[in-house]
Amino acid sequence: MKILTHPSPVLKLNAHVVEPTQDSELRSLVRRMAQTMYDAPGIGLAAPQVGVQKRVIVYDLDDGLVALCNPRIVSRSDETEIVDEACLSVPGIVVDVERSLEVTCEALDLDGGPVEITAQGLHARLLLHEIDHLDGVLILDRAAPEERKIATRRYMEAREESA
Ligand SMILES: [Zn+2]
Repeated sequence: MKILTHPSPVLKLNAHVVEPTQDSELRSLVRRMAQTMYDAPGIGLAAPQVGVQKRVIVYDLDDGLVALCNPRIVSRSDETEIVDEACLSVPGIVVDVERSLEVTCEALDLDGGPVEITAQGLHARLLLHEIDHLDGVLILDRAAPEERKIATRRYMEAREESA
């Protein structure tokens, strides 16, 4: 699948809730998303990044493929950390993003069963990043105002050079 890049308008939309037991295309979508993520290569991908307006994410932190439907953060630590983040939809730049160190995420698996994940560090950051995509939010939107300006300019320059 083709990965959409900023400023594609699709990346700014809110994705729709899915019903795993009713959605016959879900498994095929997850398979194709996983392939696209591994080919990129990346560690996480959200359906809107491949132009599909569904609340589905896949990721693999060297621990096997995880696919989640309708993931949402139900709690997050007050303690945060600022780490530079990259995104397959904003290629060529990294942006410092402040995120909670620990989160709890509720979701459904591909069979519609409930999943609860408590994650720390990179795992927490990845979940927050991918769930942001489902809400039309990119790393540029999470950057501090001054850094956002610089990162956006750098990104646009890199796009022009590669065009
Ligand atoms: Zn991303």
